[in-house]
Amino acid sequence: MNNSGQILGIDGLKDKNYLARCQRTLKEWDAPLSGWTCKEIYDIRDDDRDASLHICELCGCTKVRYVHMMTHPDYFENVAVGCICAGIMEGDILAAKERERLLRNRSKRKRSFPKRKWQPTGNGWMLTYHGAQILIGHSRHNPERLGVKYHGQCVWTYKGKPITNFLSAAYAAFNLADPVPEVKP
Ligand SMILES: [Zn+2]
Repeated sequence: MNNSGQILGIDGLKDKNYLARCQRTLKEWDAPLSGWTCKEIYDIRDDDRDASLHICELCGCTKVRYVHMMTHPDYFENVAVGCICAGIMEGDILAAKERERLLRNRSKRKRSFPKRKWQPTGNGWMLTYHGAQILIGHSRHNPERLGVKYHGQCVWTYKGKPITNFLSAAYAAFNLADPVPEVKP
């Protein structure tokens, strides 16, 4: 990934060698050079500061934290890349940067979410977030397990695992209350 300088669209990309290298790799794969869209973006360090960073599948940069999952109707596989490679593939570096900026800000909000002013309740905690109430509570049937309730929706798992501690409960609550921004079609 190359973050140097002001980059405006793909023509403004300063490092022409980098662009040429990416396009060469796409050609080697028999993949389209343009017309890709971002299907999903995620933070590989979403809730684990020490998670290994991702290796960009296009340029080989080893320090990708925000993974842009690129898809193309004429290509059979998705390609998981960093910001600038995503911008090259979709022909819009600024769009890729903006998408990443939104996710980076969300990651900061998520990290601080468990530290908000959670009020103790009879069997858990309560928080008012943007005017809505979030409840975390222990299951009557299995007190080891915690559930999260938000806008009438109740979840008992976080990342596919039962919630058994406050931190996971708070992160699950955050995902309900502040979901990953929709990727524009
Ligand atoms: Zn890359």
